[in-house]
Amino acid sequence: MSIKENLHHIKSELPPHVTLVAVSKTKPISDLMEVYNAGQRIFGENKIQELVDKYEQMPKDIEWHMIGHVQRNKVKYMAPFVRLIHGVDNFKLLEGINKEAIKNNRVIDCLFQIKIASEDSKFGMEPHEAVNIVRSETFSELKNIKIVGIMGMATFTEDLNQIKSEFTLLKTTFDSFKTMESFNFKPEIISMGMSGDYKLAIACGSTMIRVGSSIFGSRS
Ligand SMILES: *Cc1c(COP(=O)(O)O)cnc(C)c1O
Repeated sequence: MSIKENLHHIKSELPPHVTLVAVSKTKPISDLMEVYNAGQRIFGENKIQELVDKYEQMPKDIEWHMIGHVQRNKVKYMAPFVRLIHGVDNFKLLEGINKEAIKNNRVIDCLFQIKIASEDSKFGMEPHEAVNIVRSETFSELKNIKIVGIMGMATFTEDLNQIKSEFTLLKTTFDSFKTMESFNFKPEIISMGMSGDYKLAIACGSTMIRVGSSIFGSRS
């Protein structure tokens, strides 16, 4: 199937409450434009430099999501335009994003990345670390960021039961966070699910899926 057909196929099966982020990392602008011309307006990248390059080359009505690990010293490059940062996993980073948001006179939406995988390689906080941040006084001083949900990545495994229990953990964490709402903490989004596991993720409560290879084909 073509890129466009892949997109239509996935979109036709999505429940209306689930948002699709088209993960275009490593793919050329021509591939992104094919998806754009088929109606897709939300794109995700995992490297800030690539995000900025593509932002500059693509039409300006796109929502750009940063889905990868974020280095604090590079936040400034995406701060003027990034729509959602998925991978916030420590307080210092959040302070850095807030600082750059102030410079750009805007509020930047972020997700807390929660560690749900058993692998060491996956970034993210334990749920209680996120709770400690939200309850701290310094968090309430960050007026230019808003935490709008949480994100997680399941273990890279064939074991569907394990993936399911990790997704369920993220959903349970989300539900418990709902009780802590404040002006800059309004969890609405659960970002979980990729090409291999997005159907399971949706069944477990995902509201935002990040799909790359099932749309654009495999990455070399
Ligand atoms: C690459 C990536 C995806 C998409 O992966 P696919 O398996 O190609 O769908 C989703 N989330 C993150 C954080 C990624 O880095």
